[in-house]
Amino acid sequence: ARQLVDDFLRSRPGGGWLDPGRTADLLACYGLPMTVSYWARDEDEVLHAARTLCTQGHDGRIALKAYWPDQVHKSRAGAVRTGLAGEAEIRAAYRGFAERYGRRMDGAVLQPMAAPGLELLAGVVQDQVFGPLVVLGLGGTAADVLDDRSARLAPLTEHDLTTMVSELRSAPLLTGAAGGPPLDVAAVRRTLAGLSRMASDLPQLAEADLNPLIARPDGLLGVDARIRLE
Ligand code: ADP
Ligand code: MG
Repeated sequence: ARQLVDDFLRSRPGGGWLDPGRTADLLACYGLPMTVSYWARDEDEVLHAARTLCTQGHDGRIALKAYWPDQVHKSRAGAVRTGLAGEAEIRAAYRGFAERYGRRMDGAVLQPMAAPGLELLAGVVQDQVFGPLVVLGLGGTAADVLDDRSARLAPLTEHDLTTMVSELRSAPLLTGAAGGPPLDVAAVRRTLAGLSRMASDLPQLAEADLNPLIARPDGLLGVDARIRLE
């Protein structure tokens, strides 16, 4: 992880957002859950990656996201297409992106469609005075409407892991107390612990954001992640 950070900051002394490949690598260093993602640089690579995903036993539906450096809100900019199936549909979506964003775009990210679940967010932000804060909350589109978050200074204790989950207003949705099946809270705790380790290890970590993290009874999966180094 430190090697990756040093290499990036040497190539970009002012810091900035990691590209999709480095983002995935850094998340993997800390065991953070992220779906399979292919970063394809042109239409041929997009179709090749789509075929690879299908032969890996995914049901064939994919998400395609236009990529450009330093992008912030992809879906608001029209850069996310979900539930695509078949080469014709995928090709058309990619061409639509290419027409819309032109040279600004640097390929696209393909992912298998994740099964639906409760969309959470988790991440790290820097407090000017106290240092890195680990955040957990309700994610996805709900996050903009319902501000339901908890936060603790890193490094997190076992007690922090428990109370960060329990103090969310959405906690009953996670534990099953709201009537649905209990979701994988152990995986949520492992993710918070991983973020805490990442924040403590890497003082250059300016912000990290997994949103959404899709929580289900049998697991937790990130489908969108951003990391900025300084
Ligand atoms: P952004 O947050 O930049 O707008 P996201 O990559 O988070 O873009 O995509 C927006 C929404 O699309 C997500 O909150 C999620 O609901 C859905 N989505 C994105 N990727 C996938 C995926 N691989 N599987 C299922 N749903 C997805
Ligand atoms: Mg997102």
